[in-house]
Amino acid sequence: MIETCSEIMAHAYNLNMITARDGNVSVRWESQPYWFITPANVRKQHLQPAMWKKISTTRYENGEPMILDYTPMSENLVPSSEYPLHSRLQEILPAGVDNRVVMHLHPTYTTAALHRGIRLDYLVDDFPELGFHTKVAPSVPDVPAKSKILGDICHRHLELDNDGSVKYDIVGIKGHGVVSIAETPWRAFEHIERLEHICKIVLVSGVRNV
Ligand SMILES: [Zn+2]
Repeated sequence: MIETCSEIMAHAYNLNMITARDGNVSVRWESQPYWFITPANVRKQHLQPAMWKKISTTRYENGEPMILDYTPMSENLVPSSEYPLHSRLQEILPAGVDNRVVMHLHPTYTTAALHRGIRLDYLVDDFPELGFHTKVAPSVPDVPAKSKILGDICHRHLELDNDGSVKYDIVGIKGHGVVSIAETPWRAFEHIERLEHICKIVLVSGVRNV
């Protein structure tokens, strides 16, 4: 799964959904006492599975992540600076969910639509096909990147409940990008791609009253 996520990040770079050092992904398996996150400061088109950071599901008392040994290549790298966001969304997995993938990218048209003030959660009214496979949450306003508050607000807008169940698949963050949640890497990417495609259509159409 980590290998697939690494391939997807290179793919996202090629699609212009991130610049080289942007974007991050985390993966958690229900039965394991650890999860994985992409490292900071790595060019995503060259991301390798051995570079990922392995994090314990338990934290230190001060809330800092407990980083576990993984590979020699990973040793000199640090977790993505969006660790607080991923940590918050990976905290609890619901019963019956085997995996959780949290993917954060900066897709051009979706971010442009947010900048224009378009309500991403209303797009399904004009483009019903969007809603067949992807539930879009109300967008998150301007919130500092890399902050704990970004994790808290994304958590709230995606409507993660105390059991870890999630109501929405993707949320936009104004002036920034999107976060998606799914059980597989490609599902997480497809939510982003699907919304990006609709946002591109809307912006290219020039229609403003969306
Ligand atoms: Zn970002």
